[in-house]
Amino acid sequence: MVPETPTTLKINNYGSWNYNRTLVGMDAYEGRVTFLNNRDVGSGPYVLYWMQHSQRVRYNHALEFAIAQANELRKSLVVVFGITEHYPHANERNYAFMLEGLRETAETIKEKNALFVIALAEPDTAAIELASEAAMVVVDRGYVTIERRWRNTVASSVACSCIQVETDIVVPVELASWKEEYSAATLRNKIAGKIELFTALPECLTCNMPMVEIKTPSFPTVRLRTSADVEELLSTLAIDHSVKKSPTIKGGTTRAVLKLQRFVSELLVDYARKKGDPSEHVTSILSPYLHFGQISPIEVYLAVKEHDPQDTSGFLEELVVRRELAINFCHYRNDYDSYSSLPKWAVETLEIHRFDTRPVLYDDKQLIQGVTGDPYWNAAQRQLVVTGFMHGYMRMYWGKKLLEWKEHPEEAYALAVAMNDTFSIDGRDPNGYAGIAWCFGKHDRPWKERSVFGMVRYMNAKGLERKFDMSSYVRQIEDLK
Ligand SMILES: Cc1cc2nc3c(=O)[nH]c(=O)nc-3n(C[C@H](O)[C@H](O)[C@H](O)COP(=O)(O)OP(=O)(O)OC[C@H]3O[C@@H](n4cnc5c(N)ncnc54)[C@H](O)[C@@H]3O)c2cc1C
Repeated sequence: MVPETPTTLKINNYGSWNYNRTLVGMDAYEGRVTFLNNRDVGSGPYVLYWMQHSQRVRYNHALEFAIAQANELRKSLVVVFGITEHYPHANERNYAFMLEGLRETAETIKEKNALFVIALAEPDTAAIELASEAAMVVVDRGYVTIERRWRNTVASSVACSCIQVETDIVVPVELASWKEEYSAATLRNKIAGKIELFTALPECLTCNMPMVEIKTPSFPTVRLRTSADVEELLSTLAIDHSVKKSPTIKGGTTRAVLKLQRFVSELLVDYARKKGDPSEHVTSILSPYLHFGQISPIEVYLAVKEHDPQDTSGFLEELVVRRELAINFCHYRNDYDSYSSLPKWAVETLEIHRFDTRPVLYDDKQLIQGVTGDPYWNAAQRQLVVTGFMHGYMRMYWGKKLLEWKEHPEEAYALAVAMNDTFSIDGRDPNGYAGIAWCFGKHDRPWKERSVFGMVRYMNAKGLERKFDMSSYVRQIEDLK
């Protein structure tokens, strides 16, 4: 039902904003919109959607909100995406995935009657320059430090209103909780009753005004029409070319949606029983697509919910509670990628065991090459280095073993972050930082005390063998080209 009277949006920073819901359709934006500055709408000829985290057209609240505003203001729509060569751990693997997705976005965004500018520039610089002619800037929301910094710079530099629309989360992070949560249990309690309130997808709109011509920008722009364009751009970017493209995982919203459909129709039925088994292939492998905003988590939620309303598979627990706990962690802690983010009990217990004799020590090179005495760990590392993805259960084992094999826990922590961010397509993500922190005690509780780990939960190879067909997993990884 669409209310006819103006209503009040819940705004996170600057109080309330009255708007007519009929303009933007249903409740899809409630709680997702934040004014990042208190400037007025300008007189420029277009609304600028600065796409950064949500790299898709499909079910993108920020894009649809920008179109609704453009239509209301009778302005055109310009969308800008800034490609930086300086993103932490920028390499051929993660950029190939991203650019393949952007190529599709560049094609589909034409349906919105929007001009799409792919800038070879720092994202904030590109946004600020195009904002000089804009009536309003709309931006999506990512949760890591660099994305926050860019938004702060843009919001404080532009002369017009800058509005953030949060679309890569089910329950907006501050509405889920106003503080750092202790564990999945504490967050679950807070969001359980809210999830259904935040599952409205935005209405699919088209910009009414003709496409606008913009002044030639001071930065270079690129067109991504074909895979050859992607290849060419990739080869010219000053990024790390030693980490090659994944041979198995390719980017783009269409691929993400197909993966989701296959997961729901064929794999979901076995998810609860087999999701931990690395020799089986029943997980969704949606994390790279979620990481680059190539698919909406709400679309995933709704597709799964339709098949499994009670979440008997436990998938929605992972997608919503675990994923949004990771976002909560990164949002409320600036040190989310550091050892200092661990809870007091974990730091204390690891400190007590700092000088315990390790069963074996490996240097970084041996670990990166995956040549330890543990065939399961080596297989997991090979899966990561070759394909850019590691099975979820093996990620836990992988992180725990680093703690056991490095002289000090801080070293293990830093190496885990560096390797995950470098090799994993879905790395540099709140899930990665929270997952690594979990291996060291975050979001967990103290367990029985033992050497090296203290009271941090321990995992060993015997546990893997008891539960799963580990020789099958190792064989599959050996067969990887
Ligand atoms: C050491 C370590 C490192 C990790 N690094 C990353 C990373 O870099 N990027 C990343 O996205 N995830 C990371 N995870 C979390 C998790 O392992 C992956 O999200 C999951 O394995 C991705 O596979 P999938 O998409 O097939 O998951 P599915 O089982 O199909 O789950 C669906 C979605 O739910 C979310 N999810 C699942 N498990 C978790 C979890 N434990 N915590 C938070 N969200 C979860 C993910 O978004 C995932 O795509 C890490 C976990 C650990 C222990």
